Order: sequence, then C-alpha cells, then structure tokens
Amino acid sequence: MTIDRNIYKPFRAKLTDVIEESPQIKTFVLVPEEEFSFNTGQFIELSVDGIGEAPFTPSSSPVVTEKLEVTVMKTGYVTEFMHNLKPGVFMGIRGPYGRGYPVEKFFGKEVLILGGGCGLAPIRSLLYALENVKDKLEKVILCYGSKTPSDCIYKPLFTRLNKIEKFTIQLDSHNFEKVSSI
Ligand SMILES: Cc1cc2nc3c(=O)[nH]c(=O)nc-3n(C[C@H](O)[C@H](O)[C@H](O)COP(=O)(O)OP(=O)(O)OC[C@H]3O[C@@H](n4cnc5c(N)ncnc54)[C@H](O)[C@@H]3O)c2cc1C
Repeated sequence: MTIDRNIYKPFRAKLTDVIEESPQIKTFVLVPEEEFSFNTGQFIELSVDGIGEAPFTPSSSPVVTEKLEVTVMKTGYVTEFMHNLKPGVFMGIRGPYGRGYPVEKFFGKEVLILGGGCGLAPIRSLLYALENVKDKLEKVILCYGSKTPSDCIYKPLFTRLNKIEKFTIQLDSHNFEKVSSI
C-alpha cells in the first residue's frame, strides 16, 4: 500500500551511500525528506540538479520506507554523472509510477523469475517482497545470468536466499562458481 501523496510533485532525498556492485553498476542509497513508499515493480523519476532526470525502479524492499535504493547502470549522460556522485548530495524524486508486480496473484503458486545484468534491480525488490510472504508461496526460482562474472551483482543476497527453504537461485555456470565461493 503506497502513501497517499502527489506523485507529480518532486521532493528531495539525501544520498547517504553509494555501493559499487560491478564496474558499470552502482546502488545509490537515498533517504527521502518526505514520507515515501512504493509497491514492488513501480518506478520513480530521479533527478540530479542541473543535469537531468531518468526513470529507475527501486531495488530495495518495499516495506522499508525510511530509505530507498536504486541500482543504476552507467549508460549515458545522467547515469554517468550519477556514478561520480558522493554521499551527502541531494537528489530529486517524483513518483512512484506504474502498477508494480501483482504479488498477491502469486499466492499458492510456484514463481519463476528470469533476469540478467542490471535487469536484476527491480527483481531484487520483488525478491525482498516475496521473502516477506514466503509462507503463502509454493516456491520461488530465480534464473539469473550476466555477460561476465564481474557483471554479476547482489552476490551476498543470492547466497542468503539460497539458504531459505522455497527459494532456489540458479545462476549461469560462470557465475555459479564465483557466488558459491563467497
Ligand atoms: C520504467 C523504467 C525503469 C528503469 N529502471 C532502471 C533501473 O532500475 N536501473 C537502471 O540502470 N536503468 C533503469 N532504466 C533505464 C534508465 O532509465 C536509462 O538507462 C537512463 O534513462 C539513461 O539515461 P542517461 O541520461 O544516462 O543516458 P542517455 O544519455 O539518455 O543515453 C542512453 C542511451 O542512448 C544513447 N544515446 C544518447 N544520445 C544519443 C544520440 N544522440 N544518438 C544515439 N544514441 C544516443 C547512449 O549511448 C545510451 O546508450 C529504466 C528505464 C525505465 C523506462
């Protein structure tokens, strides 16, 4: 359930941490100055003062409202600038937009998730949401691949989820060795 607010009005959020996931991908931890929530799978418009804005899907848990994480691949003007940002600066957020994943429709079913590279950003949020309702699910299987082992993100998460009954994480062969050695 999202908080009732004007989704077109931007508000500030402080960048408190930048986590390097791979040479091209970083996760930005933001603390919103206003109450903010989203449903897993919804996206936000994130802006950098004087540079521009771009859409991103939060990669954090939808039940955690005091902070928000977005995982961003460096592809062009805004994302390249973002990759050089240091904690302490303020960014702008609008949203959330879109409908999100229909988590309740998965109840009583086996959920198969396919993802690759930075496409895992919205899927991480979904995995957190599914973990919260795992008792209502039959099974969750994630099949994930990346171009090279160094492009494989969220390795500690995979290791943790793999230990939970009902969760199976299947990585492509060149990543499997790397993840299982953590
Ligand atoms: C709903 C939604 C959710 C998204 N969620 C995420 C997410 O969670 N994480 C994430 O990393 N990304 C996500 N994206 C993608 C992200 O929004 C884009 O990567 C971002 O907008 C790129 O902005 P930029 O200014 O860095 O790149 P731009 O500078 O706009 O460049 C984008 C691409 O276009 C090319 N390009 C730019 N200008 C030209 C030109 N003149 N001629 C030819 N090619 C050109 C660039 O080389 C580059 O490949 C999402 C997109 C959508 C729509």
